Amino acid sequence: MEQKKRVLIVEDEKNIVDIIRFNLDREGYAVLEAYDGEAGLALARAEKPDLILLDVMLPKMIGFDVCRALRNEGDNVPIIILTAREEEEDKVLGLELGADDYITKPFSMRELIARVRANIRRTAMAVPAAPAEDDMSAGGGLVINTESLQVYKHGAPIDLTQREYELLTFLASHPDKVFSRVNLMEQVWNYGYVGDDARTVDVTVRRLREKIEDDPANPAYILTRRGVGYYYSAH
Ligand code: CA
Repeated sequence: MEQKKRVLIVEDEKNIVDIIRFNLDREGYAVLEAYDGEAGLALARAEKPDLILLDVMLPKMIGFDVCRALRNEGDNVPIIILTAREEEEDKVLGLELGADDYITKPFSMRELIARVRANIRRTAMAVPAAPAEDDMSAGGGLVINTESLQVYKHGAPIDLTQREYELLTFLASHPDKVFSRVNLMEQVWNYGYVGDDARTVDVTVRRLREKIEDDPANPAYILTRRGVGYYYSAH
């Protein structure tokens, strides 16, 4: 029997936790919960969940600091930030700190479950010692091992989140083909275009460039076609 995927909810409003737990449980996920940021961070470290639903305004430690702490420790667990509708800037800040996605309160359970499904790691991230021969060479010293889901630059492993990895491999497998943000939301994020989600793509591209490019301001791999979208430059 396949082990249940485990979702950690970090949220201080008990009624929200209750309804999310009920729905995740029904969908076959195991649920962990924490009611403040410190407890959430401790549980994330100790239990290594498959995904974290992270509220922003939390007692003891805000969600952004929890997210930042995990990323600084090299933890690439998928993180979905839960933001209030009026906190528009929270979305972008969360993504810049390394969150994979955000969902705006109030949200429907259907939407939440869809986002959890779209963001949860489908394959365990293994860390091989060195690049293998059958890797997908992306050129210019960049190597993507599609077996281990690990990316190397000049032989050194690069820490990517699931979403960054998927965006890179998607673009790299269609070299020189330009994709719009809407296209990318559908193909990489697995859900349709909704409102301002295009910024999710922009922020993820920026983060990815910071990790893989020699000079993120003058990218050599992931290029912008102004007014159209992004493409992977064949080397
Ligand atoms: Ca809260």
